[in-house]
Amino acid sequence: MSSTGDARPFDLLAPTPEHALLQGTLREFVAREVEPQANEHDRSERFNHALFRRAGELGLLGVTLPEEYGGAGLDAVAAVQVCEALSTSDPGFALSVLAHSILFAHNVSVNGSELQRKHVLPRAASGEWIGGLCMTEPEVGTDVLALRTTAKRDGDVYRITGRKTFITNGGVDEKTLGDCFIVYAATEPERSEGGERARRRASSEPKAISSFLVEKGMPGFSLGQKWKDKAGMRASFTAELVFDDVPVPAENRMGEEGEGTLHMMRNLEIERLTLAAMSLGIAQRSVQVMVDYANDRKAFGKPIREFGQIQRYVAESFAEWRSARTFVYDVARRIDLHGSGQRLDADATKLVATQMAKRAADAAMQVLGGYGYMGEYVVSRLWRDAKLLEIGGGTLEAHHKNISRELARNPSMLRD
Ligand SMILES: Cc1cc2nc3c(=O)[nH]c(=O)nc-3n(C[C@H](O)[C@H](O)[C@H](O)COP(=O)(O)OP(=O)(O)OC[C@H]3O[C@@H](n4cnc5c(N)ncnc54)[C@H](O)[C@@H]3O)c2cc1C
Repeated sequence: MSSTGDARPFDLLAPTPEHALLQGTLREFVAREVEPQANEHDRSERFNHALFRRAGELGLLGVTLPEEYGGAGLDAVAAVQVCEALSTSDPGFALSVLAHSILFAHNVSVNGSELQRKHVLPRAASGEWIGGLCMTEPEVGTDVLALRTTAKRDGDVYRITGRKTFITNGGVDEKTLGDCFIVYAATEPERSEGGERARRRASSEPKAISSFLVEKGMPGFSLGQKWKDKAGMRASFTAELVFDDVPVPAENRMGEEGEGTLHMMRNLEIERLTLAAMSLGIAQRSVQVMVDYANDRKAFGKPIREFGQIQRYVAESFAEWRSARTFVYDVARRIDLHGSGQRLDADATKLVATQMAKRAADAAMQVLGGYGYMGEYVVSRLWRDAKLLEIGGGTLEAHHKNISRELARNPSMLRD
């Protein structure tokens, strides 16, 4: 490696030829097409559907999907690259891409039937469809196993009733639903009168949860509240989705009845890792902006980079970003895309990286002084966007709980 400091950060991670090619595509796409529209879509709180389709054309929406369904057949490192690179410029857009390609399409790829994969994945990889994942409900978030949406078997269909909220890609605009969603709903086995169902209700036993593919156009499926005026991630569309006795064909159930919790768990690792990757992008941009500004801005007759307190913001942000990046790529190399075995590390990457990104964006605002507070200098947008990553896809508190529990169960994880 060169000692002159001209090596790109990604080179340190020894990319394969496929990763290097992807990195080149991302660099160009971000500079030419993502960056020019980012501030405007944040300001107007509009999702850029045309840019999303363009990402599909470039093969960026299906990097982990099998090639036979239009994907690139790559690994978790590639998924991390996409989420990281887009977030250096437009984390709101990156969140929409992540919700579509990881929460939705990757989940179908791992947990769906052959028929479901054939139906969904080519449309998802090309960007013809935009999809999302419906887990959170108005009264149930972290405590997801207490969800209230129900799916009742009625001959050849399940009738789904309930509400899901804060759904990324729930709509593409005020009037238009997203195309297809994975919906988690309670399916309780019909047993004898007052039998199993009543027993489960009376006990604290978790419900049987199943996963369904629900498509735009199914009767009773509609857009509810459109969440406007979000603190950040304003370029992604967040909505409530309403299910009013929606008849969903039984063949749209993914896996067996009651397998929904398993599907959630299988996808959690890649979800958390890619959300951590978004934090890396936010931090990288924050460091770049503060370094440039500290070089240019003069106070008391010299560049502010010469002040020790500014050096501290720059150096700590850089070192924390670099450490988190090494951790995230290390886990990405080891993670099984079918989701088993890296749960502890996936939670830990998100716990570390999300807080690191928020600190880096905050430091950048401080280094830029009053300009940092102004929209056109980008860092205030990054600061607002960074906060979401401490909440969505698992709150910090959920990660604390999971990590402590895993370590207590399995202290051998602390050894080499
Ligand atoms: C912009 C945005 C996009 C989103 N996109 C999606 C999406 O696409 N799909 C989807 O399904 N959801 C989505 N969400 C929802 C998100 O995942 C939830 O907001 C998150 O899981 C937290 O749930 P909650 O908001 O109901 O908070 P709650 O679970 O009610 O938590 C409130 C507070 O209590 C704490 N808490 C809860 N339980 C415990 C506990 N056992 N121990 C300690 N503290 C606890 C939480 O950590 C939090 O601080 C999105 C949210 C936002 C804001």
